[in-house]
Amino acid sequence: MDDLRELYQSVILDHNKNPRNFGSDADANRSAEGYNPICGDQLKLYLKVDESDSVIDAHFDGSGCAISTASASLMTETLKGKTLDEAKVLFRRFHSLVTGDPSESDQGEGLGKLEVFSGVCRYPARVKCATLAWHTVKSALDEQNEIVSTE
Ligand code: ZN
Repeated sequence: MDDLRELYQSVILDHNKNPRNFGSDADANRSAEGYNPICGDQLKLYLKVDESDSVIDAHFDGSGCAISTASASLMTETLKGKTLDEAKVLFRRFHSLVTGDPSESDQGEGLGKLEVFSGVCRYPARVKCATLAWHTVKSALDEQNEIVSTE
């Protein structure tokens, strides 16, 4: 179990150091901003969604702690090629993974690399860091134009 924890930690550190899909995207047709005042994490998300409601590209920029940056990085990687409905299912599963919600029987299922955040449920203060990008993507998909706050 310790090996697994170390592996998870190294994935998070790697994505924090070298975030994937970092930078703005002038061609995005959906975007949203998110803010986690508790930690000071801020991010902006840029999505390109095609006519069949599939995410064909995802980028983010902003500044935040290692958990929020790594979460946004892994999330943008995961979302590419997903339909909007699939993205919403992933959001729900990811949320129950990091909050340790036992009522979800499919907790963590199909999350792939996102499972590296499973340890976050032991640190309640970091849950909002891990979910900020997801709350932001949900707002972008729902086409709400206000800034999302975790508070
Ligand atoms: Zn944070």
